[in-house]
Amino acid sequence: MKDFDLQSLVRPNIWALKPYSSARDEFTGDEGIFLDANENPFGRKNRYPDPHQRLLKHALSERKQLPVENIFIGNGSDEVIDLVYRIFCEPAKDRVILCPPTYGMYEVSANIHNVEVNHVPLTDDFELNIDEILSHDARCLFVCSPNNPTGNRLKNVERLLEEFRGIVVVDEAYIDFCDDKSFTEMLPKYPNLIVMQTFSKAWALASARVGIAYASAGIIALMDKTKPPYNVSAFNQEEALKALSKPEKYAYRVKVILEQRALLEKELEKISVVQRVYPSDANFLLVEVDDADKLYNHLVTQKVIVRNRNSVVRNCLRITVGTPEENRLLLEALGNYNNQSL
Ligand code: PMP
Repeated sequence: MKDFDLQSLVRPNIWALKPYSSARDEFTGDEGIFLDANENPFGRKNRYPDPHQRLLKHALSERKQLPVENIFIGNGSDEVIDLVYRIFCEPAKDRVILCPPTYGMYEVSANIHNVEVNHVPLTDDFELNIDEILSHDARCLFVCSPNNPTGNRLKNVERLLEEFRGIVVVDEAYIDFCDDKSFTEMLPKYPNLIVMQTFSKAWALASARVGIAYASAGIIALMDKTKPPYNVSAFNQEEALKALSKPEKYAYRVKVILEQRALLEKELEKISVVQRVYPSDANFLLVEVDDADKLYNHLVTQKVIVRNRNSVVRNCLRITVGTPEENRLLLEALGNYNNQSL
């Protein structure tokens, strides 16, 4: 992006904000008698966590080969989305661009912050409508690649980074399930880029709520000063650290999910009520069927719960890839439906 000026995109109150200084900001050593944070001196869960998640950031920095200054840890990537609005969008004044069908929280968060949304829907083949996006004047643009719920990675994102005159958030929640390179590689080139990733998917830690943003040191510093002081619990930081220390477990699980995705794709295509299985770069499949509402209800009666996306992509179900056994049961339940509908 030419002539990038971070300050001109940031809400003036946030730019000027003096952050809260916690007890753990003011004294950062590990040893001593700690009588500075009004904690209870008893128990094993009595201390506040590291507000800057230093150990976790250090481990991520090694794995991703990125400086710690370019890493923010959030209470899930949903917190990162919320912070993007807090930092860059003046309520009732600024606009963002969303490209539906996509992840619903971008819009809910905009509504919470009273920020206008300009919708530029994906094309019929689920690609970005670049010229239309560039014809809008907006503070931020959210793109999700691979996209939820369509499952495909998006082409031409780099052109947006070059030409869009605002912040571009690239949500890579599902990046580990495809062999595309992460946009984190482009951070040195694009000061308007924020890449989001999460421990909720490939790292199997959705219950821990640990999300990540990678961006310029300037943007990360704004996120750090705007977040609540202890936004990620000590337990969740530990769980994420533990996961990172076992990369072979992560790699094995991703491999199984990818094998199962291929198998499910093949088997679903054989089912007569299935009209189309969209190609997926993620850990789920978007499947067009004859009658999504009816099939969804049938699956519920079989105790198999998928996501009915009929309201966003006509007659489509979004099916998360499960364990081999779960996928077998899904196919069995779909087989019953076929028998019943004959
Ligand atoms: N981005 C996308 C595209 C998602 O699908 C989800 C969750 N389904 C999230 C972000 C939220 O992730 P987290 O659990 O890190 O808040």
